[in-house]
Amino acid sequence: MDLKDSPAEAAFRKEAVAFLEEHASFVRHLDMSHGEWEPMVATLTRWQHILFEHGWAAITWPAEYGGRGCGPVEQIIWNQECSRFGVPASINIVGIGMAGPAIIAHGTDVQRERFLPRILDGEEIWCQLFSEPDAGSDLAAVRTRAVRDGDSWVVSGQKVWSSGAHFAQRGILLTRTDPTLPKHGGITFFLLDMQSPGVTVRPLRQITGEAHFNEVFLDEVRIPDSDRVGDPAGGWPVAVTTIMHERMTLGGSLGVFQRDDLVDLARAATPLDPVVRDRIMRVYSRDRCLDFLNARVISKLGAGQVPTAEGSIAKLCAARVFTDAADVALTVLGPPALTDENPWQRLLLIAPGIHLGGGTDEVQRNAVAERVLGLPREADRSRTDPFADVYLS
Ligand SMILES: Cc1cc2nc3c(=O)[nH]c(=O)nc-3n(C[C@H](O)[C@H](O)[C@H](O)COP(=O)(O)OP(=O)(O)OC[C@H]3O[C@@H](n4cnc5c(N)ncnc54)[C@H](O)[C@@H]3O)c2cc1C
Repeated sequence: MDLKDSPAEAAFRKEAVAFLEEHASFVRHLDMSHGEWEPMVATLTRWQHILFEHGWAAITWPAEYGGRGCGPVEQIIWNQECSRFGVPASINIVGIGMAGPAIIAHGTDVQRERFLPRILDGEEIWCQLFSEPDAGSDLAAVRTRAVRDGDSWVVSGQKVWSSGAHFAQRGILLTRTDPTLPKHGGITFFLLDMQSPGVTVRPLRQITGEAHFNEVFLDEVRIPDSDRVGDPAGGWPVAVTTIMHERMTLGGSLGVFQRDDLVDLARAATPLDPVVRDRIMRVYSRDRCLDFLNARVISKLGAGQVPTAEGSIAKLCAARVFTDAADVALTVLGPPALTDENPWQRLLLIAPGIHLGGGTDEVQRNAVAERVLGLPREADRSRTDPFADVYLS
């Protein structure tokens, strides 16, 4: 594992930093926790447009589709510098990180021409309509039904935890079209126009007070067949493409706290209980270990390999470190910090979601058990038997 940038990577990093210093001040440390979402969306859409104009909107997309044509290592360097500079994640993270790669890999030329430019410049913001009340970790168990009717499909069902669906123009949608096949076989992938009749978006308020998520109800929504990606029974491989790209996009953007801020907090608190000092040291050193875990992921990506267990271990470790960091910071600040709004309190409130989104802790542990410890996969007839027999009978 080589932890240093190569000369080419160092040059890329320098270029990224120069661009951020010149253009990103207006989104630096943008407070996204308060107030109305419309001005926040407008500011971040403006930022997306600037990224597009300067060729930074999609680091890993091929140049022929408007991307920068770089590899995963450059993506991670870009994420690191954005995090260091305090730049928020792209408003179109689903468009750039999931919908675009799926359309590039599995879409038609007409779909590429129609959707990709609008994703890049932020004209159309996308959301992800995958999870359902009975399909989260077991995503291939989606029940939202799509039935073919002439040149279109009629779709009914419910999605949940759909981040940003209240301001998205489009959604990537997983549906069930053939319940007689095993679960991975009968899935169809659509590009849904969120303004279609029959789409109802209902915000879900979180513990932070914000409404970042939504429930999305689909009631006999008509989707033209031209907005289907992949074969009618071939939606699962398209979904897998989006999930692989999601991991890469999210992997580097987890810089949700700076460990030196924790040390500053401790230095300002005198006297500091030795037990608390010990806890701070533990968070600090684990966060440093997380850097090395992420470096292992980068190193593997740079060598053209796909990280498997490394990604799961890094995700597990990150969620634990964020929870512990918030917990010890609030211990140092004392009871008033629980009622006065501050970044550590916010971290404490968002940390439980980090243990769930992008694969729960338990699901990551299953991956580690199978890939690192070599334990056998649990017996699971849902992989081989018809969906209807396993889930609907
Ligand atoms: C911040 C955030 C953003 C999200 N954004 C989106 C979005 O935009 N679009 C979208 O579609 N979804 C989104 N999600 C949903 C997310 O993908 C799901 O929360 C996640 O897949 C877990 O599914 P679930 O919540 O239904 O939990 P479940 O899968 O029902 O799990 C419940 C519990 O059972 C455990 N469990 C489940 N299966 C196993 C197993 N095989 N072995 C051991 N334990 C198991 C889980 O670990 C968990 O503790 C988001 C979630 C979060 C937290």
